[in-house]
Amino acid sequence: MNLIHPLNILYDLCIVGAGPAGIITALEYCRYNPGKKILLVEYGRGRNQHHNALDDSIKIDNPANHYHPYECTNKGLGGTSATWGGRCVMYDEIDFMERSVTGDDCTWGADVLAGLRPYLPKAAEYFECGEPIFNLKDIEEFRGTHIAEGFVEGIVTDSVVERWSMPTRFGSRYSNRLKKTRDIHVLQGFEIRDMQSPNAAGTVTSVKIRNVSTATESEVTAKRFVLAAGTQETTRALLRNKQLFKNLDSIPEALGHYYQGHISGKVASVVFHGNPQKTDYGFLKGKDKTYLRRRFQFTSNFLKEQNLLNTAIWLDNPLYYNPAHRNGAMSLMYLAMITPVLGKKLAPPAIAESITKGMRTGVKRHILNILRELPHSLTIPAAIFYKRYLLKRKLPGVFLFSPENKYALHFHAEQLPQYRNRMYLGEDRETLHIDYSLADEDIRSVIRTHEALDHWLRECGCGELQYWFGEDAIFEAIKGMSRDGMHQSGTTRMAESPARGVVDMDLKLWGTKNVYICSSSVYPTSGQANPTFLLGVFACRLAKHLTTAP
Ligand SMILES: Cc1cc2nc3c(=O)[nH]c(=O)nc-3n(C[C@H](O)[C@H](O)[C@H](O)COP(=O)(O)OP(=O)(O)OC[C@H]3O[C@@H](n4cnc5c(N)ncnc54)[C@H](O)[C@@H]3O)c2cc1C
Repeated sequence: MNLIHPLNILYDLCIVGAGPAGIITALEYCRYNPGKKILLVEYGRGRNQHHNALDDSIKIDNPANHYHPYECTNKGLGGTSATWGGRCVMYDEIDFMERSVTGDDCTWGADVLAGLRPYLPKAAEYFECGEPIFNLKDIEEFRGTHIAEGFVEGIVTDSVVERWSMPTRFGSRYSNRLKKTRDIHVLQGFEIRDMQSPNAAGTVTSVKIRNVSTATESEVTAKRFVLAAGTQETTRALLRNKQLFKNLDSIPEALGHYYQGHISGKVASVVFHGNPQKTDYGFLKGKDKTYLRRRFQFTSNFLKEQNLLNTAIWLDNPLYYNPAHRNGAMSLMYLAMITPVLGKKLAPPAIAESITKGMRTGVKRHILNILRELPHSLTIPAAIFYKRYLLKRKLPGVFLFSPENKYALHFHAEQLPQYRNRMYLGEDRETLHIDYSLADEDIRSVIRTHEALDHWLRECGCGELQYWFGEDAIFEAIKGMSRDGMHQSGTTRMAESPARGVVDMDLKLWGTKNVYICSSSVYPTSGQANPTFLLGVFACRLAKHLTTAP
């Protein structure tokens, strides 16, 4: 490897990684600081990279519960937003509270949430997900409406919503803006390698970057650095550059640990007793044409009192692969999804797998379903195809009406921050090992939140749950079905001291004066929420901080 000529500029800011976090940080910083020079270094170059050395050097210890590296992230301008679903969810107050269920080890607090709120509108602009209002009670046209006839809010709520992005592919959406912005220099096809040790004052002045194709190295000098390479790669860069912590008594114990995702799957259906036409099973459309969707959630008090992990549960279709649903449109979509080539075009692999469960089964019965329900088996998917693939603001998902008023329930639950779930470097100092497993408490909490929902629906007289598994089988079923790796967080958590975390409350790396992390790796808890919207909010806040901090 040669060290080739340095890039002869002292940048004001060097950002590593051009996913949503890196792009928002760059554009926001530029907006606040016209004339300041920004370098955005991105590993991926071009669109169709079938293989890359980063993903090839990841070893996952428990593939049953963790997707393959190629299904978890993307490389290139826009990062993993190239395949993300676009679901924008806000974290809840409970996620920022001390709770015994998470071991009273919550290293961020209510003040962090309060400090983020002013940045929600700007982040929502980048995500193109409408006004950042996440409760239907605060939206006039939906106030007082409910998920199903007879539902009453209590310990269970139905008014918190997820919002949906276009889905915005940050690469294609913002590449022109990045190109036109003279002060932002995008360098694609380069990987961050060695970072200089901080001086006694904690200042790092340069990092080495390596050309991914030629392996030649260059040096970048900058006044400040932001690592925004996604959770696994940001963590790998820090594990490889432990000299960054040389001004501390020791390397932060939390580095690489507390890796979290979400527990997710389906174990029950809900049957509502009221008028099926009054069930809000699909998307709501705001006045600005953005899509919203309800979810069942639980109040903070209830979760705290009952020692439960934060959980969202939403209405879903029955399992596609099982022809017993007798729905012609679903059968057609399932067959399309398992058709080689076509299936890959319809959804990214991890999403497709979550729909088909990797099963190729009952083809004849699926065909019978299609024939029995003609022409609807064709017209419904055709209308969905048009809305989902041909419109600019795409229909974010497919949820079908049930005349029986019966829907599958999809749970999406917080995962305990466990020290033993971790990322660490192999002896070659290149391979990133990922140890990831579910705790029994994760699974028990999912079971208990379902019981609480069932109890509440029965109490309202609105409906009840029907389980797909017996009491003795449900635990193992959840353990077997839940897979993540798409919503990575926790490995560089923020905390008020290096004894408990890796970055401070401003996202500055402990032990340095000018190295920051902008990634969901800084979240100490995973909540029920998908991570990216909040990450955009953090990016907006960081850009402001970099502007105002001395
Ligand atoms: C199939 C799928 C669906 C998803 N759906 C949702 C959803 O609906 N809602 C949601 O909130 N989240 C979703 N996510 C998660 C979401 O995509 C991520 O949270 C988000 O992309 C993280 O943004 P980021 O900028 O931190 O990292 P990334 O988007 O991963 O971008 C990081 C960038 O850094 C670059 N990089 C990595 N290492 C280096 C290096 N050493 N040097 C230089 N550059 C480097 C990478 O090439 C990449 O471009 C989904 C993820 C997947 C896989």
